Amino acid sequence: MSHFISYGRQSISQDDIDCVVETLKSDYLTQGAKVKSFEGCISAFVESDYAVAVSNATAALHLSCLALGVGPGDLVWTSPITFVSSANVAYLCGATVDFVDINSDTYNMDVEQLELKLIQAKIDNKLPKVVIPVHFGGLSCDMRAIYNLSQKYGFNIIEDASHAIGAKYDGRRVGCCQYSDISVFSFHPVKIITTGEGGVVTTNNKKLADTIALLRSHGVTRDKNALLNNKEGAWYYEQHLLGLNYRITDIQCALGISQLERISQFLIKRQELANRYQHALKDFSVKLPVVLDGYYSSWHLYCIQLLNSDRRQVFDELRKRNIGVNVHYIPVHLQPYYRHRGFNHGDFPVAEAYYENAITLPLHPGISDDEIDYIVSCLKEAIEQSQFIPVS
Ligand SMILES: *Cc1c(COP(=O)(O)O)cnc(C)c1O
Repeated sequence: MSHFISYGRQSISQDDIDCVVETLKSDYLTQGAKVKSFEGCISAFVESDYAVAVSNATAALHLSCLALGVGPGDLVWTSPITFVSSANVAYLCGATVDFVDINSDTYNMDVEQLELKLIQAKIDNKLPKVVIPVHFGGLSCDMRAIYNLSQKYGFNIIEDASHAIGAKYDGRRVGCCQYSDISVFSFHPVKIITTGEGGVVTTNNKKLADTIALLRSHGVTRDKNALLNNKEGAWYYEQHLLGLNYRITDIQCALGISQLERISQFLIKRQELANRYQHALKDFSVKLPVVLDGYYSSWHLYCIQLLNSDRRQVFDELRKRNIGVNVHYIPVHLQPYYRHRGFNHGDFPVAEAYYENAITLPLHPGISDDEIDYIVSCLKEAIEQSQFIPVS
């Protein structure tokens, strides 16, 4: 291929561009009507009562933890196979992080491991305040099972659904929060839909939605009904909480509204390309992503594991051929920062074993069938080469 096939990429239409340009010509570039309108579109799409749009999903996770009261002395548990920010937000709140190992088929947080860890944590009096399951690659975690454990052990749930807008579980969209307190989506350009940078929180809890909206903008309110002192003039505002500036702009939300109108098309295309890989790779010595009954994946990522070839060699060979393979993810607990905090090799063996052989193949709506076929044939050659043992 003469051009580089990236593993993920945005799809921007003329309509998307027109919506952004229209907003650029309007009175409000930020804190205007597009933010509210985007939030309305998101909550209608996922069927949640509330949506609060913010500057990115990391901000959304951070504010969600703060709104749930996560602070010093608290524990937050997440999956080791995720982007670092799912875990970092706990430290940013002054809390402590721990991980629950993944399931070797879904690569999501393993529910049996979660239960075992909860049983031990109860004995040790170290139960988590919040658990953050991550819907890896766009496949929902088993939320009903995690919810049942939350009722038994008394923790809150934030779904890190950064990969999973459009995915379904139990017949409903991820983000409806039937089995969680909060869901978080990311709109980074590699994700399913984009706002450039951006994120959103969905919830059915008004108090959480209000707190997150307040914290997003310095903890400052101008809402007449919320003011403690309502005798001042029209200039008056009050700070009630210690917040941040995690606002998203109207320019970004205009793009988000337009992108959300195209989401079905994106999801169908991703599904088709994933099916093409599944079919073409079925006789390769690789482990394919699982497809589960009752789950509809948004196919953010197409991750395989090589079964008996050298990952480094296959990866380098594919990159040489202009194929933007990637690895999702380096287990978070192996990052130097986390080792500093006391984590070690061997702590989460399933995650570590997965990582050793994992490769993410390119998948996004701009990829053609021919490109998939090219990637498949290069992968075949790369696997054959890496299995070749020269006789000396
Ligand atoms: C992308 C991503 C994030 C962070 O999203 P940003 O919008 O870039 O802050 C968090 N968690 C997961 C699982 C992600 O993939």
